[in-house]
Amino acid sequence: MTGLGYNGRGVAIATAMGRALAKWATGTKADELEFPVTPLKPLPFSFAKETLVEAEILRLKILDKLGL
Ligand SMILES: Cc1cc2nc3c(=O)[nH]c(=O)nc-3n(C[C@H](O)[C@H](O)[C@H](O)COP(=O)(O)OP(=O)(O)OC[C@H]3O[C@@H](n4cnc5c(N)ncnc54)[C@H](O)[C@@H]3O)c2cc1C
Repeated sequence: MTGLGYNGRGVAIATAMGRALAKWATGTKADELEFPVTPLKPLPFSFAKETLVEAEILRLKILDKLGL
């Protein structure tokens, strides 16, 4: 089990998650924790992530050159 996905707001949540993970590691059942336990789901189109990011950077560079 792992705690992740704080979306840039993890200072408080990751601390609370640490407590929940410690409870799980010492025998508390997953469905009794403060956080939901869910399977990891792949992001759609993650296989094309690098290409999409490079295309977006190029698009923004072109907009910059055009002064838009
Ligand atoms: C630029 C930036 C700004 C942010 N601003 C905010 C904010 O304003 N508010 C907010 O709530 N959250 C913010 N966050 C998010 C927040 O920092 C994280 O969600 C939070 O720190 C996650 O805590 P963590 O303990 O899970 O991981 P981390 O804080 O990343 O701690 C993981 C630790 O494990 C260590 N480690 C990694 N691998 C190993 C290894 N193999 N052996 C030993 N040690 C290892 C690392 O060195 C690190 O110390 C920000 C993040 C970034 C990058």
